[in-house]
Amino acid sequence: MQNYDVIVIGAGNGGLAAAATLAEKGKKVILFERHNIPGGCGTSFCRGRFEFEVALHQLSSMGTPEKPGPLREQFRRYGIEEQIEWVEIKELFRVNFPDGTGISLPADRKECEAHLCKEFPQEKDAILRYFETVYSFCAESAAFAEKSAQSTDEPGAVKKTIMKLGFPKLYPTLAKYALKSTQEVLDEFFKAPKLQLALSAYWCFMGMPPSRFPWSILAKCTNIYMEDKPFYLKGTSMVMNQAIMEAVGRMGGVVRLNCGVERIIIENGKAVGIIDENGEEYRAKKIVSNISPLATYGALLDEKDIPESAREYLKPYTVGISAITCFIGLDCTPEEIGFTTSFTLNYESLNANEDFKDAYKLLPENDPLVATCYTVDDPSISPAGTSIITAGTLQYGEEWEKLTPEQYYEKKYEAGRRIVERLEKMYPGFSEHIEEMEIATPLTHMRYLGHPGGAIYGYEQDVMSSVFFFPAESMIPNLEFASGWVNACGFGPNYMFADKVATSLASEV
Ligand SMILES: Cc1cc2nc3c(=O)[nH]c(=O)nc-3n(C[C@H](O)[C@H](O)[C@H](O)COP(=O)(O)OP(=O)(O)OC[C@H]3O[C@@H](n4cnc5c(N)ncnc54)[C@H](O)[C@@H]3O)c2cc1C
Repeated sequence: MQNYDVIVIGAGNGGLAAAATLAEKGKKVILFERHNIPGGCGTSFCRGRFEFEVALHQLSSMGTPEKPGPLREQFRRYGIEEQIEWVEIKELFRVNFPDGTGISLPADRKECEAHLCKEFPQEKDAILRYFETVYSFCAESAAFAEKSAQSTDEPGAVKKTIMKLGFPKLYPTLAKYALKSTQEVLDEFFKAPKLQLALSAYWCFMGMPPSRFPWSILAKCTNIYMEDKPFYLKGTSMVMNQAIMEAVGRMGGVVRLNCGVERIIIENGKAVGIIDENGEEYRAKKIVSNISPLATYGALLDEKDIPESAREYLKPYTVGISAITCFIGLDCTPEEIGFTTSFTLNYESLNANEDFKDAYKLLPENDPLVATCYTVDDPSISPAGTSIITAGTLQYGEEWEKLTPEQYYEKKYEAGRRIVERLEKMYPGFSEHIEEMEIATPLTHMRYLGHPGGAIYGYEQDVMSSVFFFPAESMIPNLEFASGWVNACGFGPNYMFADKVATSLASEV
């Protein structure tokens, strides 16, 4: 039996960051990952002469070297900032409409405002007011969070004091918009559906249509990506995983790949250690789970050890959406097929909420199509004269789980064919250039990550289960969660959330 301060289960973004922060703070930490590579969702794979990125489109919160964002600061602390060649993306995204028109949004507030005012002159005032509202909302949220963190009172007492002082007076924009959906806010400001779609494209990063997507998250995404800029990196997200994993080792932590955790040991109702898949026992003062609370309680605990309070606590949450993705290697450059912006969201109609209903079906129909050409921002990502495109739709896993193995293969290729047909329509001649193609379905995500429903963004993040109500609380003493399931999902948010969890644990062990 070995003893540690902290055991971390799972080397996804959250697990890697938790282990790195604990090691940095001089804690004896061990990280277990059942796969033979780190990264979880954030990974890559090779087919032919292409290496495909699985998940990362845009890394948030990086900022520039001169004006670093919180994630860059975190990577500096791990000593990995300089090891990685970062690629700044100049445009947030391009939204393409069914009539062949489209709008690209520059990753700069002033340029974005100017561009949209030119495209929609009749909505100029509303556009300027909207951006002002986004920025005020984020400033007030940050001020409120800082105030809450500074207070030495119990959180309940802080809230009561703030309420007494008049929360809406202190934080008027936060009070007005915190619990509104994206669609509600867009309807308040804008008339043109195309403008609404252009400003709400980040809904697809959380897998909730505008009618259910918390505007609070959209405002934060818009603000963060405009201020800290969207980034990619040379060599796919595997380079980042490898760098963080090596940093864990360099700072004295231990990483065990190819070594899943079989069970969490509970004694007197408290988490005290784990048993790995080889039957080895490890003890620690704290356990951090980087896998979903459902899998943590359901697969790693004996039935008798699952507290009733955990079942009750998780009841209101719904397992989120998965995806069907085609990973495509083309034998031509992006210019040859007319791909000019790396990240595009492509609509079949001007009603995103209606089209999103197809996400519950087995196969993509009118679902908004997310297509990313990594070669636009980094031509060196694939051999000269070639390009990499990943294109897919958000799809729930339920219908896929009902298929027999024979049906599965048939439907998987049918899904791929439909997505390629959509791309062919937008970029005539596209399919003739396909050199390699692989398709991932909700079942692929389920198999590789062990996530229920193959969910790629954790629990559904609608207005009522948004950032203010995540199920981050563990019902077992000494067990903590640090994953996309208990926090706003995504690379940046997960690295930073896990850093916060680990920092707080470091002061306790
Ligand atoms: C197709 C796709 C596109 C995405 N696009 C973006 C994007 O553009 N931008 C963005 O920011 N985010 C994106 N995301 C989301 C982002 O990738 C995830 O939010 C994030 O990677 C999840 O990290 P995590 O820390 O929750 O861990 P996960 O990635 O869920 O990793 C959990 C790890 O735990 C391991 N594990 C499971 N069980 C055990 C066990 N018993 N013992 C040991 N290890 C175990 C798994 O093997 C895995 O490595 C995308 C995701 C997908 C799949």
